Amino acid sequence: MTWLRLDGVTRRFGGKDALSGLSLDVEQGEFIALLGPSGCGKSTALNCLAGLLPLSEGSIWQDDVRLDTLPPERRGFGMVFQSYALFPHLSVRRNIAFGLQMRRLPRAEVRRRTDEAIKLVQLEEHAGKLPGQLSGGQQQRVAIARAVVLEPSLVLMDEPLSNLDAKLRLEMRTEIRRLHQSLGLTTVYVTHDQEEALSMADRLVVLRDGRVQQIGTPEELHTRPANRHVADFMGYRNLLPMTVTAVTPAVVTVEGAGLTLRGTGVGTLAVGDEVVAAVRPEDLQVGPDGVPVTVEVVEYQGRELAVEARTAQGTMLHLRAVERPTPGDRITVVADPARVLVFPA
Ligand code: ATP
Repeated sequence: MTWLRLDGVTRRFGGKDALSGLSLDVEQGEFIALLGPSGCGKSTALNCLAGLLPLSEGSIWQDDVRLDTLPPERRGFGMVFQSYALFPHLSVRRNIAFGLQMRRLPRAEVRRRTDEAIKLVQLEEHAGKLPGQLSGGQQQRVAIARAVVLEPSLVLMDEPLSNLDAKLRLEMRTEIRRLHQSLGLTTVYVTHDQEEALSMADRLVVLRDGRVQQIGTPEELHTRPANRHVADFMGYRNLLPMTVTAVTPAVVTVEGAGLTLRGTGVGTLAVGDEVVAAVRPEDLQVGPDGVPVTVEVVEYQGRELAVEARTAQGTMLHLRAVERPTPGDRITVVADPARVLVFPA
């Protein structure tokens, strides 16, 4: 049962598509991330949903009611922005209560719901303070409480964590996910951070130049990116231009820049095709009978070592190692053919 439907949503600025034909079905309670690099159309999509931007083409439906012709306030959505957009002269409590007061709800109800929202985002100790007296993370929690206190049918979030430091960003990810689950919210969340999207969302929509590249669960995008652009975004750091030299139903063999790799073809490929072989660093390992390379850079990354090494022909490979090699070392690297994806160039 589709609860919210975007059908061919398109928005142009001066004849150029900022967002082109976005179609998406959202289930109630889902957490959807819109993901892509700067300028790909994420905010345009969110603003079209919110009603802050009229569509050039397409339509938006909720339970068979056409939404895109309604003004923002009649859509019943909550919004959380990167900039928090709090009232600086109002206390935390009054910021959160503001929307309820605007709806002229009885005072007792305003107080009860405001108290609940304050508790939900764990700001009880700070309820009397002004936004300027809070940390960035606390301010963002106020912004979230202010949105959810109105019990919106859908919460739209535009890069809400990008002004926070790395540690707080991680904490707030969990926090937002927790709120999403405990309140049964439906959320559309915009981010350019692939890790953030993968860790939070039930499904991701990857955009590039205003066009949908792929819609899928984190696992689908991770293991089966639809094209090299999605692969690039999903952390396939080795994107190697090569040529197909053999094709069997199971394995495609590709060669280029002194490398021979075996992988899985995405789409139909034939001998002689120009392709891009995509491999994640964690799927390239030091091993016998592999490609000889010379180590150039070694870096700690969590529990593993991130290694950059160059082939004799000068191609740089990104891989992982468990034991620390030294720059200048000659090693050989191997890849599991099941984890090498071969895309048409
Ligand atoms: P960012 O992460 O940098 O905010 P984004 O993915 O959210 O990027 P959008 O803001 O949706 O991207 O912009 C998509 C494209 O539309 C860009 O090329 C942008 O320059 C253009 N664009 C967005 N808003 C306008 C506007 N009001 N007038 C003209 N062009 C616009």
